[in-house]
Amino acid sequence: MTEMATSGWHPHLWHPFTQPGRGPAPIPVRRGQGVWLELDDGRRLIDGISSWWVTLHGHGEPCIAEAIGHQAKELEQVIFANFRHGPASTLSTRLCGKWDGLDRMFFSDNGSTAVEVGLKMAWQHCQREAPERQQVIAFDGAYHGDTFGAMALGERGLFSAPFEPLLFAVARAPWPATWWGDESIEQKEAQALQRLDELLQTPTAAVIFEPLLQGAGGMAMVRETFLQAVEQRAHAAGALVIADEVLTGFGRSGSLFASHRAGIAPDIVSLSKGLTAGFLPMGVTLASERLYQSFVGPEPDRTFFHGHSFTANPLGCAAAVASLELLEREPQRYTSIEARHRPHLERLAEHRLVTKPRLLGGIAAFELPGDSGYLQPIGLEVQRLALEQGLFIRPLGSVVYLMPPLGINDGELAQCYASLQTVLDALPL
Ligand code: PMP
Repeated sequence: MTEMATSGWHPHLWHPFTQPGRGPAPIPVRRGQGVWLELDDGRRLIDGISSWWVTLHGHGEPCIAEAIGHQAKELEQVIFANFRHGPASTLSTRLCGKWDGLDRMFFSDNGSTAVEVGLKMAWQHCQREAPERQQVIAFDGAYHGDTFGAMALGERGLFSAPFEPLLFAVARAPWPATWWGDESIEQKEAQALQRLDELLQTPTAAVIFEPLLQGAGGMAMVRETFLQAVEQRAHAAGALVIADEVLTGFGRSGSLFASHRAGIAPDIVSLSKGLTAGFLPMGVTLASERLYQSFVGPEPDRTFFHGHSFTANPLGCAAAVASLELLEREPQRYTSIEARHRPHLERLAEHRLVTKPRLLGGIAAFELPGDSGYLQPIGLEVQRLALEQGLFIRPLGSVVYLMPPLGINDGELAQCYASLQTVLDALPL
């Protein structure tokens, strides 16, 4: 290891998705307030990607901090296999109330486990009800998390390569990603649906996708009508539909949930990230009553034998309830966010380096010319230049995107785009 590579790195911490031999050391930060991160050295940065898409309203959102503080004095944790508590009951009632036909909620700890739980529910249900259904279908470019089941569902590549022999087989359909001015979309969608039809000839337990937007796969957006066609075909074939809304949930897509915006009715929905407004790690999986009932009966093997120590942590539940209430009180936080981004992205899209611009709710993305792929060094260069401008972003290779907290004000949003403009002007391309 070279001096350069190790300098600035902590002697005991091991960071996720970072390579000490390649990138710059993580930045010491001391405080977060609204969209702002205050660094140990006194600098201030706009958190342009909501800290890996979790910080929903803004850092330190007072009503959520207060709800957590209040709950901590009442009940901080209790074993959920034997007890239930008010914050969990309230959250389940309020969240299930947002969905037609999803009346059950199962807790876990993060996005990956929310997906794992959804898959295990679907699989165990089929083992009992329709054991011939042995296939799971996911999409090219998908990312569903880093635990083994979630990893198996995701696109295979750099991240999953060392584990390949341990991952179960998944059938895969194309993901017809689109952008402003895309002229080949009809053809891409037709091909994707044709492949899906072929795959669905095999008895299928579940079809899983990230509704409207693949996040880690490159902020790849699809049309609502495409998802409707997928849902209709999956259901017609008797497969369960799992919507991974870990990223798109809670207003990110411009609707409370991307499935609502797309007009689809999944059987299982995985949620995390914005669930607690980014204050605490928690995941939930929603399921239909019909699915739940197939797990109910005197036979022990009907039980869903899955659980985590921190299941339904009351602090997380209190944060989630407070965040939902805030979204209910001020729906314009998410309903108006796309219109607020649009003029800025339209202007940026005129830049000679911007290709494939696209926008969904509070998520704006574009690509830089050249090769795509997570390891493209241009992403690190863009990140470095943006930091100089006081903007923290984390491009996915050559895909640059903004996803600031919903509480961002107009001036701060304009500042994000002005910084990006400066970065693009400075790029040696
Ligand atoms: N699903 C999607 C769509 C995600 O974007 C992510 C995280 N980026 C996950 C699942 C996994 O969530 P977590 O990192 O909380 O395990």
